[in-house]
Amino acid sequence: MNATGKCLCGAVRFEAEGVDTHAHACHCDMCRAWSGGPLLAVSAGNVRWSGESDLARYDSSEWGARGFCRRCGSSLFYHLKPADQYLLCLGAFDDQSPFALADEIFVDRNPGGYAFAGEHPRQTGEEFLASLESD
Ligand SMILES: [Zn+2]
Ligand SMILES: [Zn+2]
Repeated sequence: MNATGKCLCGAVRFEAEGVDTHAHACHCDMCRAWSGGPLLAVSAGNVRWSGESDLARYDSSEWGARGFCRRCGSSLFYHLKPADQYLLCLGAFDDQSPFALADEIFVDRNPGGYAFAGEHPRQTGEEFLASLESD
């Protein structure tokens, strides 16, 4: 589907095509530090940004970059560099009602004080990384 979104202050906006409604949750240490909790994100095809001068990228690893607004600090996307795949943060979408949690990764890194409800695949970090290598 097509969808629009923006950061908290509205300086950075996006129009995305090919947005998947299956949301992914990541409990890894980097995602929690960056987003203030588990990262919730959905994959998208083409993403058109406006206000790009306020859009900052942080290379958090060799394979991943994270995008945020330099005015308000909103977490906006995770970019998987090898696949050139954008995962847009759920909280940035104007309408978040179409999205449903489809899976969780790095569940072994969940600090333990909260948990997402529902039946869906849950992988430890080790299981997730092994699944990437087998692709
Ligand atoms: Zn902003
Ligand atoms: Zn993560």
